[in-house]
Amino acid sequence: MSRAERYVPTPREEAFHASITNPKYDRQIINGLNPFFEDRAPEDMKSFYTDREIAELKSLKGTARDVEDRMPVKMTRHYFELAKTSKYLQRLVKASSDETEDLAGSEDPGFQMDYSPVEGLLHKYEMGLMYVISTCSAHCRFCYREELIGRKDIERQDGSVAKKGLAQIREVTDYIRGHNKVVADNGGRHPESGREKLREILLSGGDPMVLPNTKIAAWLSALAEAGVESIRLGTKEMAFYPDRFDDAFLAVLDGFHEVYPDVGFRLMVHFNHPDEFLQKDGGGNYIENPNGTLKWIESTKRAMDAVVSRGWVSVENQAPIIKGINDDAEALRIMQRSLKRVGVENHYFFCGRDIIAYRAFNVPIETAWNILNESQKGLSGVEAHARLSITHYKGKTEVAAVTSDPIEGVPLSEKGVVIFKILRNAADSPDRAKVCIVGRNPDAIWFDDYADRVIYDEAGLYDYSRVVKVVPVTIGAAGS
Ligand code: SF4
Repeated sequence: MSRAERYVPTPREEAFHASITNPKYDRQIINGLNPFFEDRAPEDMKSFYTDREIAELKSLKGTARDVEDRMPVKMTRHYFELAKTSKYLQRLVKASSDETEDLAGSEDPGFQMDYSPVEGLLHKYEMGLMYVISTCSAHCRFCYREELIGRKDIERQDGSVAKKGLAQIREVTDYIRGHNKVVADNGGRHPESGREKLREILLSGGDPMVLPNTKIAAWLSALAEAGVESIRLGTKEMAFYPDRFDDAFLAVLDGFHEVYPDVGFRLMVHFNHPDEFLQKDGGGNYIENPNGTLKWIESTKRAMDAVVSRGWVSVENQAPIIKGINDDAEALRIMQRSLKRVGVENHYFFCGRDIIAYRAFNVPIETAWNILNESQKGLSGVEAHARLSITHYKGKTEVAAVTSDPIEGVPLSEKGVVIFKILRNAADSPDRAKVCIVGRNPDAIWFDDYADRVIYDEAGLYDYSRVVKVVPVTIGAAGS
């Protein structure tokens, strides 16, 4: 099928699309470092970088250590206003010469392209993930999709080299229909991969909330028509520009729910630090409500309340633990409590991935586990749902436990052990719940750092070989 073939919406979709409006949003984005290099940044933003920082960053321009080549620089005014009084948020959006000191890392973390049956769609787990856009309102320096945001060339398994492409509605919905038809014809399992129906899809990128409402609505309805039962939308817009969750966007959600009441909608938000949503006083302390809870920033609270109050939308936070941003048990404790209080689930915290320059951002695995564990002491059970996950090439893996004492008679356990547990793995998740036990290495920031101290590897984390690339199923009559 050629890319030129356009998706044709059903009359039901067209009726839904007709109700959508696309307001203009004024995020007042500062793009790139040039406005700072050339003294063109708005007057009140000029001091965001010191003269020394600007000189350092300028000296790297055009060299192999150019920070903007690694990851484009971008910031909204809303985030700038928050970052002015938060060194943690500054670290999140401010480029720094440190980030290109060590450029080790993978250009395609997790070999994601091995699981891409059509451009822009990853079908690794029971659900599918789509890249629908390659930018966000602002850019996190630690982004796990720097290869997509930076539009970098990626080597595929067949040796070809190309930028990651974005998902197209026609191609993706044809694939979903084709896959689901084969599964249905085969009694509920795909005959080759063993996968079940593709029933859940994540709209990701980049940040889908940067798309106009009409495009978001087009994706939602096309996926619903293709038989998807649940749609997730992954976004950091609640932190970068909460006013995006306005009446026009809420009308998209309401209209969608009215037309497709059986399709679930999950908003996967991304807060790294409570400074992104809590009000602070002049001394930098969080402001309390009369009952001792902490006061949210008004625009963020308005946006969050609007989404959460639609009971059919579930809202879940997931965020990596990043050096200098949120590697702090107290900050994570405040964040988990404050999010749950307004109806947001704490889903995952992530260890860093092996992106290019990961050493600048990643916290050692055992440190991250300790921070999360400390942060959850004193939280109620419902506040402490989040698990620490690290994405092994084989699948999503929980850092389930870190012990401190030797286990008698077990070599390599002298300083204690780390227990990894597979949460989800490719295809029909044959290794779910299997564990891998390694001797401790407090400096480890990636699985490789434990390679010389594996004690027990039921999960096969140290016996990994790339999968044969997923090939698209024949679309034929199943296409729209
Ligand atoms: S919001 Fe997400 S995709 Fe966008 S830059 Fe940050 S981490 Fe990357």
